[in-house]
Amino acid sequence: MKKITVVGSLNMDLVVNVEKMPKVGQTVIGSNFKEVPGGKGANQAVAMARLNGQVNMIGKVGQDGFGKELLNSLKKDKVNTEYVKTEKNIASGVALITVNEDADNSIVVAPGANYELRKDDIDDCMDAIKESDIVVAQLEVPIDTVRYTLEKSKELNKYTILNPAPAVKLGDEIIKNVDLLTPNETELEILSGVEIKKDEDILNAAKTLMNKGVKELIVTLGSKGCLYINKDMHKMYKSYKVNAVDTTAAGDSFTGAVAVSLANDENIDKAIDFASKVGALSVTKEGAQSSLPYLEDVMKFEG
Ligand code: ADP
Repeated sequence: MKKITVVGSLNMDLVVNVEKMPKVGQTVIGSNFKEVPGGKGANQAVAMARLNGQVNMIGKVGQDGFGKELLNSLKKDKVNTEYVKTEKNIASGVALITVNEDADNSIVVAPGANYELRKDDIDDCMDAIKESDIVVAQLEVPIDTVRYTLEKSKELNKYTILNPAPAVKLGDEIIKNVDLLTPNETELEILSGVEIKKDEDILNAAKTLMNKGVKELIVTLGSKGCLYINKDMHKMYKSYKVNAVDTTAAGDSFTGAVAVSLANDENIDKAIDFASKVGALSVTKEGAQSSLPYLEDVMKFEG
């Protein structure tokens, strides 16, 4: 099986349930406090490892308790952590998440060590990229680091996947080095600058990005499924019907599953079907990494 390297963020998610969100200046009493390992990079790496992918993680944590826990959770899932650096004098990334009784959340991310992942660090970890066939990135580390990662990966002829979340406008020098882009609808809208009001707009928005050099796109559409687009064709895939309780990390599990399928030399049809099962299973459980399914769960799932 081909190896995958994920370049991205590791965050400790600190989650509290409240009845109503506090207003500015207000204190409310919450309950059910949980610490759940997260961060889009780490979530995608763990998603892949649980699906039997062979994964290197490149990233950065602080020299603190959360950093140790984040590394341990990756190790427990058999992600190779030798390329995750621990940086002194900086805190590990954290996400402060408040969930109200309607299951709406508000989130503050303090990126900490994630924003210290620099081009030099990528140079130091080049062995991980060299031994991989697929390189996966997201946008929770500095954009310059993402640009450099994609550029170096393409120089080495690697297949690059960018999950463009959280969305920001991307320069052409990033877009041209992306083989597969996996935005959700909102991210596609921001990236392309095309307002999406009806289904045809999704295609137009995707084409705008393909004209800039992206080879393939999968636009994920939550419970509506996803749309695959390359220069010759496009195809809509339905989602699997499940009882959704928490959609955190659905996109991460989906991108992770696509990468593992492609690493197993599956075609895009099979990869998307597999990823749709994984995405569906992830929304049936709470939390980020706590919701990511194992290969056995996916094999048993009939949809
Ligand atoms: P993101 O978390 O990035 O916004 P999506 O919500 O689009 O990503 O979810 C990614 C994929 O996970 C979808 O394309 C779909 O296959 C699956 N998925 C997400 N939400 C549901 C749901 N409620 N029911 C079934 N599948 C879902």
